[in-house]
Amino acid sequence: MTAKQLELIAVLRLHNFPYSFIGEKMNISVNTIKSICRRKGFLAEGFRKTKSEKETALLCKNCLKPLGDKVRSDAIFCSAYCRSDWRRKQLKVVEKST
Ligand SMILES: [Zn+2]
Repeated sequence: MTAKQLELIAVLRLHNFPYSFIGEKMNISVNTIKSICRRKGFLAEGFRKTKSEKETALLCKNCLKPLGDKVRSDAIFCSAYCRSDWRRKQLKVVEKST
């Protein structure tokens, strides 16, 4: 588990996404997420997310951080950095496969 992953778990948890949702998004088992949150004391705030809230949740395409409600509905990255970082990764994938 990298520091970045831990940070992301903390952020998603703070936004009250359930363990299963976080695990699914990050490709980590639910039990691992659960034990990390317990150990690190990552707590959820506010109400549980409804099903539709989870389905329509806007997460940054690059780092998976929640984008929140303030961003435009077509925004898919949390920052310019993530946009270029994601593009760079896509480029690498293409390079590898050719
Ligand atoms: Zn991002």
